[in-house]
Amino acid sequence: MAVVLQGRLLSSDTNGFGALHVEEGGIFLLDEGVPSRTDGKETQGQFCIEEQFLVPGLCDAHVHLRTSEEVQRSRCFGVYGLRDAGTRDGSGLSLSDGSRVCSAASALVPEKGYGGFLGVRVSDIVDCQRHLRALQGKGISYVKVIGSGVVNRNTGEVEPGGFPEEFLSRIVQDAADLGLSVSAHANGDQAIRSAVKAGVRSVEHGFLMSSETLRMLADRGVYWVPTVYALAGSPPGTAQADGGTLALREVLLTQLVNLSVALEAGVRVALGTDAGSPGIGFGEAVLREMDWWRSAGLSLQQILKAAVLHSAELCGFRRFASFRDGRPLSLVAVSETDGRISARPVLFDGREVGPCREDEPTALGRRLLR
Ligand SMILES: [Zn+2]
Repeated sequence: MAVVLQGRLLSSDTNGFGALHVEEGGIFLLDEGVPSRTDGKETQGQFCIEEQFLVPGLCDAHVHLRTSEEVQRSRCFGVYGLRDAGTRDGSGLSLSDGSRVCSAASALVPEKGYGGFLGVRVSDIVDCQRHLRALQGKGISYVKVIGSGVVNRNTGEVEPGGFPEEFLSRIVQDAADLGLSVSAHANGDQAIRSAVKAGVRSVEHGFLMSSETLRMLADRGVYWVPTVYALAGSPPGTAQADGGTLALREVLLTQLVNLSVALEAGVRVALGTDAGSPGIGFGEAVLREMDWWRSAGLSLQQILKAAVLHSAELCGFRRFASFRDGRPLSLVAVSETDGRISARPVLFDGREVGPCREDEPTALGRRLLR
């Protein structure tokens, strides 16, 4: 029996109401703009279910990847794409496949200050060039650099760290010569602005950014990966989220306001979580990040545009966000109930995902496509 899934299709080649007729093995037919049918009814040998949004997969554009279990766990939450932002030993690189997982291996980190656990410390530009060539030789997808420290959760201030603008500019040039783009961990308006002026492709985190700098991102086509949940540490509306220091709450509030400003200004916002950092779980963090964006007033459609289209673009995954790529269907159903966003992995390359948890009912694909 075929299954008809209908809802709002959001992909790089569809945007609007439609239906996917899925046969065994994930072979599918796409109908755009078909009229709505009654949910859960079996007609003419087809089982029809209605979902709010149907997407080819969510993509987490900022994780720190170490094991294949983390890739599997992400899939259980509908997160089929991952962009590894680096670890000290570069363990994420062996999991990179260029189509759903990409990796910077190890970040380039200044001799002093934040970031030693994320990559390799470089002493000067010559040392930096040596590491760049070594990383390129290993097959990294992009270069990750440390452009500032982190936001202190108690004081709300940015701790010391990061390369100065001139050094960042050199890294961007040297990386470009090797055919690589650069992404910068940057917090605090000055550091973010320096990174943008240096020519980075994306700003990671970007806490405490001014609206002028946001406009610079828009003008120069720089991606922004805001990682709200990574700093908040708990979902919006929970006691922990409301109980942070006043300074922390102010930083978060600025980030949420900036999200709305960024979308209005046309900044390409991608969704990332810092999964792999303490307390930030793979897959689930994407949903909690989405909850935060929702609390900032963004629509589910705007959020999915970031989490599916922009994140995959930033990773350089050419076919990830398409329903028309010729492969068996990959599909995730995303919906919102009582202010919480959930995602169900339906199919991954035509096959069911999982089992994800022992106590969980079988995946939608398994229940319906047999
Ligand atoms: Zn990170």
